Amino acid sequence: MPLVWSDDHVLHAPRAEVWVGVPTPAVEQPARAAAIRAELEQAGHPLVAAEQHRDEALTAVHDRALLDYLAGAWQEWDAAGLRADPGQEEVVPYFFAHAGLLGDAAPALPAAAWARPGRFAFDTMTPIGRGTWQAARSAADAALTAADLVLGGAPAAYACCRPPGHHVTRAAYGGSCYLNNAAIAAQHLLAALGAPVALIDVDAHHGNGAQSIFGATADVVTGSVHVDPAAGWFPHFLGFDGADGAHANRNVALAPGGGDEPWVAAVAALARWASGHGPRALVVALGVDAAAGAPESPLRVSAAGFHAGGRALGALRLPTVVVQEGGYDVAAIGSLVRAALDGIQEGLAGAGRGQEAGHG
Ligand SMILES: [Zn+2]
Repeated sequence: MPLVWSDDHVLHAPRAEVWVGVPTPAVEQPARAAAIRAELEQAGHPLVAAEQHRDEALTAVHDRALLDYLAGAWQEWDAAGLRADPGQEEVVPYFFAHAGLLGDAAPALPAAAWARPGRFAFDTMTPIGRGTWQAARSAADAALTAADLVLGGAPAAYACCRPPGHHVTRAAYGGSCYLNNAAIAAQHLLAALGAPVALIDVDAHHGNGAQSIFGATADVVTGSVHVDPAAGWFPHFLGFDGADGAHANRNVALAPGGGDEPWVAAVAALARWASGHGPRALVVALGVDAAAGAPESPLRVSAAGFHAGGRALGALRLPTVVVQEGGYDVAAIGSLVRAALDGIQEGLAGAGRGQEAGHG
């Protein structure tokens, strides 16, 4: 399976995530992608360079105002002198355009550079540094390049996207994510195929971005398996078990601490459900932070579990774009991604057919 890659991911190396007001070491680091690449190259996956795509591929999913802000946010912050006084190197919001603050009024773009991130960010955990935009843009290009490869006939392609993207909505960023790479790939496939696309998110946290972006359309069917927000997990406000009000969306929320069995069953159930909508392509938002060894992992999925889940997704026998999302155990991330990709390839090849998604 081609491994789509951009060296530009290293330009995003956040210093700190601000959690409950306290700067904590940022875990979404370049070493994650390096570890994945090393493992996948060793396994024989051929490296393909991400190709730059036009802005239209991004504006099809995100508001222009969000893109314009992200592209210039760090320069505005720097020009306003905020790195010297109060001494914050990265763009971090302090005041938010909360729906309860604004009522029916459209949020203005604040005049103050220090107020602007609160127009677009929904948390304080997602800092913007000097190279963040270029890295985020390259991650979206990697996802688009992987989509092009499957449109060109590859059975599947993997985009090693960093920073990840699955928490980003049409107009707001957060959750260590800046551009919704998986949603951008799904929209690109939809436009090229003119037929429904399934987007299944197996990251340990709810894929709220795709649900929000595609909630009003059945053209992109979105499913997510994740730890239950009702048990206290990010993104807290949404992602509860069921359909969350959107007709072509399904969430399977798992109790914290669950292992392979409930997780693989949920992935297979989502695959079956999505296949009922007649998709012509599949995007997998592949986070591996449901792994047992991940720091503060809410779930206990093993490499064998990721392999089995991959087989269930591959058994849909659809052209498949795999987009990297979370996963923060650098020692294990490569082997977990490799296990998932092996499973997808086996499913696509028909191994174990009839045992998982049961769909031809
Ligand atoms: Zn996650």
